[in-house]
Amino acid sequence: MNRGSQAEQEVVDLVCRLIQFDTSNTGDPATTKGERACAEWVAEQLQDAGYETTLVDSGAPGRSNVFARLPGADRSRGALMIHGHLDVVPAEPADWSVHPFAGAIEDGYVWGRGAVDMKDMVGMTIALARQFKRDGIVPPRDLVFAFLADEEAGGKFGSHWLVEHRPDLFDGVTEAVGEVGGYSLTVPRPDGSERRLYLLETAEKGIAWMKLTAKARAGHGSFLHEDNAVTYLAEAVARLGRHRFPLVLTESVEQFLAAVAEETGLDFDPASPDLEGTIAKLGSIGRIIGATLRDTANPTMLRAGYKANVIPQSAEAVVDCRVLPGRQASFEREVDELIGPHVEREWVTNLDSYETTFDGDLVDAMNAALLSEDPGARTVPYMLPGGTDAKAFAKLGIRCFGFAPLKLPPDLDFAALFHGVDERVPVDALRFGTRVLDHFLRNC
Ligand SMILES: [Zn+2]
Repeated sequence: MNRGSQAEQEVVDLVCRLIQFDTSNTGDPATTKGERACAEWVAEQLQDAGYETTLVDSGAPGRSNVFARLPGADRSRGALMIHGHLDVVPAEPADWSVHPFAGAIEDGYVWGRGAVDMKDMVGMTIALARQFKRDGIVPPRDLVFAFLADEEAGGKFGSHWLVEHRPDLFDGVTEAVGEVGGYSLTVPRPDGSERRLYLLETAEKGIAWMKLTAKARAGHGSFLHEDNAVTYLAEAVARLGRHRFPLVLTESVEQFLAAVAEETGLDFDPASPDLEGTIAKLGSIGRIIGATLRDTANPTMLRAGYKANVIPQSAEAVVDCRVLPGRQASFEREVDELIGPHVEREWVTNLDSYETTFDGDLVDAMNAALLSEDPGARTVPYMLPGGTDAKAFAKLGIRCFGFAPLKLPPDLDFAALFHGVDERVPVDALRFGTRVLDHFLRNC
């Protein structure tokens, strides 16, 4: 029986062990567990195989990151970074079928918080890093392995801190691969057969959390009072929340829709009044793709007033805005018109969008690696409506892709597993992903 490479044999155990470290990140320093213990363990696994590792805290105690480098054949070429975050979002054990931090294997799946986001990819990366070192495999160019803190709260105590304070850790890195790409989506074809598409992430929307403040005259609630901060704010929030921003097809989304149209026979005509309805026919992935057609501005928080008969002099709201590449200036103009003259806005968080092209040697290498393991498949680019650590690395001029390959069962609602209850990853998919990454890293 072919048990596969050493990396393939190790990967499942590594992912289970990673899940057993509770690295819950609540976004609040008081309740966030930190990555230190997990990072120390990762460093040990790499040292075991002969690596020198760098463990560095990013801006707060216990927020630990691990770096290691494997020299390649052509050291004049820029290095490729393979990055993964060690933190996870919290999980409520009472809601789960198995304990979220047990790292259990059941029904052919590894279960637990982080199974797809993203201790799966972290495990695959460690397994391959160990195998390359032990077997003396020399990749075509330098590989930098990076295991990071705080992605789930935006990377303030992780990637963004490192990029700002320790850019030396990324010396010579020109390209990078990370999470939320390389997984399969099975689509029906007009002749009744099916086709597996692998979605490579080439773009991300910007994350812009906006605070709105209305200020006006305070006063008694029983009097005539035209100048009311709560009214101004409520009107602005309602206008923003109901607004539909224009349909803008960026290159990644256009290429994705063209490829899926070709495979499925569905008509994704941008002029169609129900483009979103057609996209919804793609199943759960439609929730991701549908959100990449336009900017969005969803009101999420409101605060005003302290007593029923006192008109307060200010009112505040927070709006979660997600902005397409190339749209920031137009988006801000549109927002200013909607909120009107009595409301001011400021950014609580403003992380740029990102987009790269679906071409070049690295894309060819991803493509070849996937097709070597799944010859009938097809790779397509797509945009993530959220964000990853790629936003930080892009600031250093690093070209980033989402490439954490998984071959998934056609009926699995993959999108729902991210931050979801009963997060899990197929054991076979982990082995598949390890083989694909092995091929990729030998040919990058
Ligand atoms: Zn993630």
